[in-house]
Amino acid sequence: MWGSHPDVEAPPARQHEARPEGGGTRPGEVADARLLVMGEPHSDLAGVKAMLAPLGQPVHETVDWNGELEALLDMELACILVDARQGWSVGVETALRLRDQERTRHIPLLLLATSACDRADLLRCCGLSTVDCLLEPIHPEFLRAKVGMFIELHRRERTLRAALDRAERAEAVARESERMLRTLLGNLPGMAYRCHDTPGYPFSYASPGALELTGYGPEDFTSHRVSREELIHPDDLRRVREGIQMALDARTPITLTYRIRTRTGKERWVWERGVAIHEEPQAELPILEGFITDITPLHRAEQEREELLIQARAEHGRMETIIQQLPCAVHIAEAPTGRTLAVNARAEQLLGHPMIEVRCLQDFARYRAIHADGSRYTAEEYPIARVLLTGKAQPEEEVLYDRPDGSVRVFLISAGPILDRQGQLQAVVASFIDITGLRRAERRQAFLASVSETLASSLDYEATLAHVVQRAVPVLGDCCTLDMLEPDGSIRRLAVAHVDPGRAELAWELARSYPIRLDSNGGSGAVIRTGKTQLTAEIPDHALARFARDARHLELLRGLRATSALVVPLHARGRTFGALSLGYGGPGHRYGPEEQLLAEELARRAALAVDNARLYREAQLAVQLRDEFLSVASHELKTPLTPLHLKLSALSRELPRCCVGDTRSQGLQRHVDVARRQVHKMSTLINSLLDVSRLSQGKLKLEPEDTDLGEVLAEVAAWFVPEAARVGSELRVEGETRVPGCWDRLRLEQVVTNLISNAIRYGAGRPIIARLEVETDLARLVVRDQGIGIAPEAQERIFGKFERAVSDRHSGGLGLGLYITRSIVEAMGGSIRVESRLGEGSTFTVELPRCQEGR
Ligand code: ADP
Repeated sequence: MWGSHPDVEAPPARQHEARPEGGGTRPGEVADARLLVMGEPHSDLAGVKAMLAPLGQPVHETVDWNGELEALLDMELACILVDARQGWSVGVETALRLRDQERTRHIPLLLLATSACDRADLLRCCGLSTVDCLLEPIHPEFLRAKVGMFIELHRRERTLRAALDRAERAEAVARESERMLRTLLGNLPGMAYRCHDTPGYPFSYASPGALELTGYGPEDFTSHRVSREELIHPDDLRRVREGIQMALDARTPITLTYRIRTRTGKERWVWERGVAIHEEPQAELPILEGFITDITPLHRAEQEREELLIQARAEHGRMETIIQQLPCAVHIAEAPTGRTLAVNARAEQLLGHPMIEVRCLQDFARYRAIHADGSRYTAEEYPIARVLLTGKAQPEEEVLYDRPDGSVRVFLISAGPILDRQGQLQAVVASFIDITGLRRAERRQAFLASVSETLASSLDYEATLAHVVQRAVPVLGDCCTLDMLEPDGSIRRLAVAHVDPGRAELAWELARSYPIRLDSNGGSGAVIRTGKTQLTAEIPDHALARFARDARHLELLRGLRATSALVVPLHARGRTFGALSLGYGGPGHRYGPEEQLLAEELARRAALAVDNARLYREAQLAVQLRDEFLSVASHELKTPLTPLHLKLSALSRELPRCCVGDTRSQGLQRHVDVARRQVHKMSTLINSLLDVSRLSQGKLKLEPEDTDLGEVLAEVAAWFVPEAARVGSELRVEGETRVPGCWDRLRLEQVVTNLISNAIRYGAGRPIIARLEVETDLARLVVRDQGIGIAPEAQERIFGKFERAVSDRHSGGLGLGLYITRSIVEAMGGSIRVESRLGEGSTFTVELPRCQEGR
């Protein structure tokens, strides 16, 4: 019975063709309906399988209720065929058992039985759920049709199950989305809405956030108790309407910022974002959905930020104006990058180029500061960079700057930190000024001062001028020459200096071979002639050729290689007597007004020194001539005075005897006495002149001997008493009376005479005291009067030759007495001084060693 069936051998093509009836697997399709054939060991399970083969589904078989069957039952089966043809009762039992089990209860069963099977069992089995029965003879196609139906049912069930699964999942997702949406809308900072694009934009939905935002609950809006437009601030309403309309027209999202008024009347700034939902593409009135959120704090912050920005901009503008007005250059750099934050025009002006774009500290190296040896600053060496690195202020320092125009300037730079409230470095401010001119002026002043010192050091002006010429190089040029006008009108080269000593010889050679002429149209000759400075900033070669007298002259001039020249005159008291010529031999140097001023000042000082030296020489000559004249004159004057004095003495003696009884004799005697006094006075004056000429020639000779100063003073005072009395003064001698020493008596008398006669002359008729003191080896003579006194500024001067402290009206002296007195006192190894106050009198003190050295 279980034997093979002709259909089992059906070709695969037919198997496929059978699919429409049996629902077999399409090529490439994975079998989805498994079949299980069960029976007992004698059952023709292979035959059953063969009949089912055309269905194209996997068919499993089992004869036993064992572990294998358990595994098979775990699979998804479209149908179980129980072959009970060989053992009816076993088959029925199997069917019942399969219906009993949960996992197999729903799998359709097909019971294959013989027609002789027990009808009661058969009915019982068919009464079970999804059990069908097929009695013999079993036609293969019939069997396949039945099984195919089960397969189809299985498939449909599966599809249905899958659809149900999907639907369940979709529902779960939808539920989750809804929950999430509720959560989001409930927690949204603001309100979500849905409204219609009709006047007033009535809300059909408002999220719970509406209450917090507006003070109205969602239902206030959805029930239309409050319209959306009532919320909007009247001043913003028009703008909001226009904004919505524009977005709708352009079909773009609505984005608006406006004010609302809450239920309690508070004003709030809100931000709205919404879109128009066109449910039907043609619908004219779309639905608007979106949300509105409170941005009041943000708006306030924004406003504050705006205000701060305006304030900051104003402050920045003020700072900018201030730094632009500053006379110094200012550069403010951000910390820590060094990026330029602010700079004034003066900075770029001083640097000579635009500010460098600094992104990091290393970029500072692109500025052009240099060391004294010409090497560039590293980035870290710049004062501003040092503040950025250390945060510490950098005091003023001098920095050399190599400007792109080739000039090197000296800047005085200082830099300091700008800190924030926390003390953190925020920026660095550097300021600098150009002190090139100042330094140059200082150098020049120092140069002029030292030159003046040199000029004042000696009256040998030729030597000092030669020294000055040497000093002018290289301060004022590479080459310097000095030419002087001689009394005969020729010009003599006095000095030459050159940075290259070899070329100095060329300058000498030039003056020797081509003497400078006053009528020359250039150079020192022309300057001496005109007295005017000649500045030639640049000397082109053709100018040299024009100036040269011949080829050799040109060769010598070219050899000096002067490319810029400056010739300044030496003049004093309206007379030009020399010229100082300066020359640069390098392309980088050319003379300008500054150099001209300096050179002229130098020449002025030199000329003054020359003039002074000349005047001094002339004065010395004049003094010498005067002294010679005085010497001759005083000798000549003294010669007739001695016999005149003798004749008057004789006349004075003879007169009483010759004119006895003559009443006119007394008058004649007075005339003779006056004549004798005048002769004495004249002889004193002439003696003074003689002394002066002796002193000038160093011919004052002392003849020391044992002398008593007390005795000398007493004698001289006795001689002057009548004269003192004549002017109303009392002359008193005080102190020591005996002061022996070793002095030239006559000269000592001269000293005492001079002091007492001055005291009488300037004593204003008041008492005069002459006092002698002794101090071991020292004799001191003090002559004090209470007369007119001597002004402080004249107290030293009166000891000079021909010096007087009063006008001629007060005295008939020559201003020589004190000069001779001091010369004598000092020759004796002593000293003389005066203490005096105007109107209160004078005190002259002479101190003399009692024994001169060598005695
Ligand atoms: P002279 O012949 O003019 O007096 P001196 O050399 O003796 O020359 O004095 C110089 C000047 O010093 C005087 O002209 C006078 O002005 C001042 N002098 C000298 N002695 C006195 C004095 N005792 N009191 C005031 N002035 C005096």
